[in-house]
Amino acid sequence: MKINFKEINICLAGNPNCGKSSLFNNLTGLKQHVGNYPGVTVEKKEGSLVRDGYKINVVDLPGIYSLSASSQDEIVARNFIIDEKPDLIIDVVDSSNFERNFYLYTQLSEIGIPVIIAMNMTDVLKDKGREIDYNLLMKNYGIYAVPTVANKNKGTEEIIKAVIDVYERRIKIKGFKIEYGDTISEELKKIEEIIYEDILLSRKYSAGYIAANLLKEDKFVLDKISKSHVEHKLTKQADESKKIISEKFSDNVDSVLADKIYSWIHSVAAVAVKTVAKSKYDVSDAIDRIVLNKLLALPIFALVMYAIFKFTFTLSEPVVGWFEKGIEFLSVNAAKVIPNGLIQSFIVDGIIGGVGGVLGFFPLILFMFFAIAFFEDTGYMARAVFIMDRFMRKFGLHGKSFASMIIATNGCAVPGLMAARTIENEKDRLITLMVTPFMICGAKLPIFALFIGAFFAAKDGANIMFIMYVLSVGLALTAAWILKKTILKGEPAYFIMELPPYRMPSLKGILLKMWERGFMYLKKAGTVILLMTVLIWAGLTFPQNDNQNADISEEETAAVQIEKSYIGRVGNFIEPVIKPIGFDGKSGIALIAGLAAKEVVVSTLGTMYALGEVDPEDAAPLAEKLHNDPSWSKLKAVTFLIFCLIYLPCIVAVAVFFRESGSKIKWLAFLAFWTTIAAWIVSFIVYQGGKILGFGG
Ligand code: GDP
Ligand code: MG
Repeated sequence: MKINFKEINICLAGNPNCGKSSLFNNLTGLKQHVGNYPGVTVEKKEGSLVRDGYKINVVDLPGIYSLSASSQDEIVARNFIIDEKPDLIIDVVDSSNFERNFYLYTQLSEIGIPVIIAMNMTDVLKDKGREIDYNLLMKNYGIYAVPTVANKNKGTEEIIKAVIDVYERRIKIKGFKIEYGDTISEELKKIEEIIYEDILLSRKYSAGYIAANLLKEDKFVLDKISKSHVEHKLTKQADESKKIISEKFSDNVDSVLADKIYSWIHSVAAVAVKTVAKSKYDVSDAIDRIVLNKLLALPIFALVMYAIFKFTFTLSEPVVGWFEKGIEFLSVNAAKVIPNGLIQSFIVDGIIGGVGGVLGFFPLILFMFFAIAFFEDTGYMARAVFIMDRFMRKFGLHGKSFASMIIATNGCAVPGLMAARTIENEKDRLITLMVTPFMICGAKLPIFALFIGAFFAAKDGANIMFIMYVLSVGLALTAAWILKKTILKGEPAYFIMELPPYRMPSLKGILLKMWERGFMYLKKAGTVILLMTVLIWAGLTFPQNDNQNADISEEETAAVQIEKSYIGRVGNFIEPVIKPIGFDGKSGIALIAGLAAKEVVVSTLGTMYALGEVDPEDAAPLAEKLHNDPSWSKLKAVTFLIFCLIYLPCIVAVAVFFRESGSKIKWLAFLAFWTTIAAWIVSFIVYQGGKILGFGG
């Protein structure tokens, strides 16, 4: 039996960081990524729920401060609200920042769609010692607000009930109006009357919205009326009205209107928001006085990153050891059970050697994501963006670029690239897209962990990782600066960043984030990495080199097989190009295979070393094999890591880059060219320089 639900379409609108995505997740049961810095939600996301015979479709929109949009993500939100006309808007308001958040409400309420306020962050409001009088809001202003604490899933049922109540008109939201005063109201009315002459136009868009925005010369609205037969009359009236208003108030219309709206908001807040206790917020401000201090900010940020790596490496070391032991056990026993031959080689050298090598680092990934989630949820990562914005502006760079870079470090370059959409300026956005892939994303992490583990003492692990992190940020900033000075010249744009107050993160929240990101890693291991491993194994195993030579040892036979295989031939072919930077064909192959996904660098090396092994029963962790291979050295390892920092991002990131940079082959070619050349040159300098300085060959 098919049940036909009546559908209610609602959307969540609100300023960035007010908790829209959290509420969306509560409503729909989906897991939209939540984070307290701008750029986390850059596309609209859809979900639904079923209640009381209704199917409620929910759309989560990117954060906006007003309906006069300028950046791509804002345009997405604005166009949805105005053009797709949901049945109902839920305006998510950060109640602890009532006045600032309320500006959007004044605009949303003009559109002519019922608006329910989800008065979110009421926990923070309470900590600030304040309370909101909901009855008064409804009685005096016709504002319907429902308190929520979205990150604790509080108030969700009440919101759902409110949606149905309003939809069924059990609760009527009377069209609330801003008190503009006589002059402005009269002028607005004159314009509205003309709008009503065009029935189609006035049916499609609310007259109040069009009238107010004509006064503001909003391009979007000018465009909407451009096809109307009253266009001329409208613009003429708007011009007259603007003149009357600006003469009366001796100021330009924009500021007169803004002034009216803000003083109105202020008067609403004054009666509806009550102070009932002492604020706990002074603590957050006190912390910020130190954390954001001009001199201390950068060192503290460095310290936090160092702490993350120290935590990750120190705690994961034994656990990674157990995992490696487990995989070794598996490998040895599989070799015992499965008879010698291709199948044994496929399972032991291919799958276990390759995918197993990547899975060995799973605990490290979890520890790292745990530490990052902790700082993210306290509110520190938002400060990091703020601090770097201040720093980067000195070089003419955009602070939002760093938000992209942090998102990439916190997991994957793809969401980092997407976050660049919040940057309005085209050139700044391109620069950000070009440099974000330099960051050490979760996929590159195992490569770093592998080589650091193989060539450095355990106690130095965090230090080396930290140096690599600083290097990656330094490289990205330098590259951005060069681009800004050369092909992508332009003025930096300003951006105002809302800093969330510090919060005590919940263990559950951190574990959830850790798992969400960790699971991606596992999923990749079971898909892309597995597939690549099979291909690499096959490429190294075929064609079979039957020419058994009794004179050479088994070990040499294995080496000859690799040498003569399809992939081995490719390796030999590219070797001359990478010889000057210290790599042999094997590492070259690993790097190329890594374009599918960066973890594949590790799995490929794993398969290669497993195949080169004579007796599968004395399997050792990959790090140990690398360490014992005389063709590797500390200097080569460091050069290899630096190359990995810079060279072409993985295929998924490249595809996203292509889309986000406007699908222009020009930029794609530029990215490919620039990262490859830069990787080679920097590696050359490091390797040859290192040799000259006597760090070995
Ligand atoms: P969006 O940018 O509007 O989508 O906001 P998010 O849903 O990503 O939330 C931003 C941050 O605020 C996250 O760290 C959430 O955990 C947190 N958050 C969301 N709702 C609340 C709330 O009611 N109280 C508190 N204290 N934090 C919240
Ligand atoms: Mg969001």
